[in-house]
Amino acid sequence: MAIGCLRIGLDDTDAPGGLCTTWLGAVLASRLETAGVPVRERRLVRLNPNAPFRTRGNAAIAVLAEGDPALAFELACAAVEEFAPLDAPMTNPGVVVADRPLPVACYRSAVTDLCTVGDTVDTLDAAGARYRGYGNGRGLIGAAAAVAAEFPDRTYELLAYREPSRWGRPREVNADSLFRAEAATFPQTWDSVDRENDAVVCVPHTPDPVLFGIRGESPEWVEQARSLVLSEPAAFETCWTTNQGTDAHLVAGLCGALREGRSYAVEGTIADRPTTGPGGHVTVSLAEGDERLRCMAYEPTKGFRTVVRALRPGDRVVVCGSYRHGSLNLEKFAVLELAACATIRPPPCPACGRRTTSAGRDRGWKCRACGGKVREPEVVVEERTIAPGWYEVPPIARRHLARPLCRGPPELPIGLDRGNG
Ligand code: ZN
Repeated sequence: MAIGCLRIGLDDTDAPGGLCTTWLGAVLASRLETAGVPVRERRLVRLNPNAPFRTRGNAAIAVLAEGDPALAFELACAAVEEFAPLDAPMTNPGVVVADRPLPVACYRSAVTDLCTVGDTVDTLDAAGARYRGYGNGRGLIGAAAAVAAEFPDRTYELLAYREPSRWGRPREVNADSLFRAEAATFPQTWDSVDRENDAVVCVPHTPDPVLFGIRGESPEWVEQARSLVLSEPAAFETCWTTNQGTDAHLVAGLCGALREGRSYAVEGTIADRPTTGPGGHVTVSLAEGDERLRCMAYEPTKGFRTVVRALRPGDRVVVCGSYRHGSLNLEKFAVLELAACATIRPPPCPACGRRTTSAGRDRGWKCRACGGKVREPEVVVEERTIAPGWYEVPPIARRHLARPLCRGPPELPIGLDRGNG
């Protein structure tokens, strides 16, 4: 962090049916600029999607600026106190302002693991940061993580916010224009729509101030897609730099050594044929030595379940997803190597063509009708409907942090540079 650089972090200012943290962050950024604190970057930082008590989408924000830390802190606290519903029990905002770097581990642990308010406060005190926690102070975790974040990979999201008079009313966004915008800019933008499932993805259904969000590789690409979207007038728009779509939540894991609430990439061998349970959820297990790992593709992942069902015992795979309640919930997987799926069955009789039966152990097959004998069984090779490569859930089922395959296949071993299981 250069001299004069400030980072202002906010988290947990949402309330059900109300504001969202990104809106407050955008408002704060504009107030900082008005007060003579130039803003260099606006960051939307997604954190562990499995954290208990997480806010919807577990988003924190950081504003990178230049100026007086005391003034920035005062403005940030004032914005939280003006807009955040401080009396809502589930809303526990945190404000952090630092003019010196926080340890990046503070971010890494909040995106891949579970953190405590106590540890966060220790880190903030050690770094001499200004901070204020409201309620139980839980928002300090995300606010500190957002300030500490470094993005080895980054994407962008343009968020358009609604006029306050329209909040809570149905959104007017032309769906056809979203399909056209994505068609014109994919794969440089993604997840505005889900073509396979004929669904709009980027327009929320919650009563918060977001009108829509366009995700992509650069500010230019999201702007270009946005220029094609027809909608009600937006109050204002902010282009956020973000860790969305980067797999920042994944760490390398080993079968049998996964912890609840973390997200992993795990290599292994398919242990049994996939099964489809009640509700259409698909289960398949991985084996590695004596360890087993149950993997799930739930019904909302739609067509993704078809490729999961095509896996067979012996296939070598890498699976990615969150480990919850003893299962890995698949976000994507790679087939590294397909098993030879062959079964044997009694051959037809060479004389009369009827199906033979076993003549006994190591004695070949025998025709019960004419007495014909065969030594070799018939080998039935199963035609595979899946090829080596990566497969992912559709946009409607994608988590914010999951890197879409349109950004290029993940490098293997995925997650290995990001910490240990
Ligand atoms: Zn025969």
